[in-house]
Amino acid sequence: MINQPSGELYIVATPIGNLDDITHRALNTLKSVDFIAAEDTRHSARLLQHFNITTAMIAYHEHSDTKRLQKICQLLTSGKSVALISDAGTPLISDPGFQLVKTVREQGINVVPIPGVCAMVAALSVAGLPSDRFVFEGFMPAKKNARCQYLQALSHEERTIIFYESSHRILASVSDMRDILGDTRRAVIARELTKTFETVLEGDLQTLVDKLTADSNQQRGEFVVMVSGYKKADEFSSITEPVSHMMTTLLEELPIKKASAMCAKLTGLNKRDLYQWALAQKDS
Ligand code: SAM
Repeated sequence: MINQPSGELYIVATPIGNLDDITHRALNTLKSVDFIAAEDTRHSARLLQHFNITTAMIAYHEHSDTKRLQKICQLLTSGKSVALISDAGTPLISDPGFQLVKTVREQGINVVPIPGVCAMVAALSVAGLPSDRFVFEGFMPAKKNARCQYLQALSHEERTIIFYESSHRILASVSDMRDILGDTRRAVIARELTKTFETVLEGDLQTLVDKLTADSNQQRGEFVVMVSGYKKADEFSSITEPVSHMMTTLLEELPIKKASAMCAKLTGLNKRDLYQWALAQKDS
């Protein structure tokens, strides 16, 4: 029996709105493969039609069972080439494909990236937030309690944090971010990137909640929300120059606990914040 060489699996990025963002390589790949595995074949039919691509499609989505996965593996081992696409952007990034790529790689079959658009990269590239180190969190939990716990766990993350969000939850999510990460934390909301109503809003979380509330159009479409990382200094933003002077004077006469309590009484500031500030001064 002659061993047939395996086909290759191509992971092809497609536009997130503006069809001009498709790459030449993506088009050539989609035209030349034997099959296109698509998250939603009806949705992708429109893309393929636009570019006069007639390659046969098969469905591969989040709920595809192992039979479907095996079918794609069989196609590949029998020498057929397959391109995986999602509804928009890069497959596997908050989109189906991980299990397929893992399985295919385990079988020693080549997986080839055909890079292109990804909403979070496009958003980060225009946000003006630190981009040297960042974390991508995808979609947060849909339910408020779970979402708040999730945000709590991220509250001391020092890197820029990137989320995906839908129109149903954008206001609730940004409001929870404000409540948990603090109203002064800076953030950027990138909406409808590459589309007609592309908007990039920036400001502290309170300002962003106000902007979303004031104009319901700002709650429509698709969103990438980027929040600047936690800065140690944020913790003590209430300790202004006069307060630190008062604390320093009190600390010359009193132990930390008493000095913090007295300063809290005089300024109305939080006793615990003042205590933590005093401890941090001792350590520094
Ligand atoms: N795989 C895609 C990628 O590479 O970005 C992401 C797919 S995920 C199911 C869809 C989410 O991506 C949307 O809910 C939104 O958060 C974000 N997104 C997709 N297109 C976008 C756009 N044009 N503008 C802003 N965010 C977008």
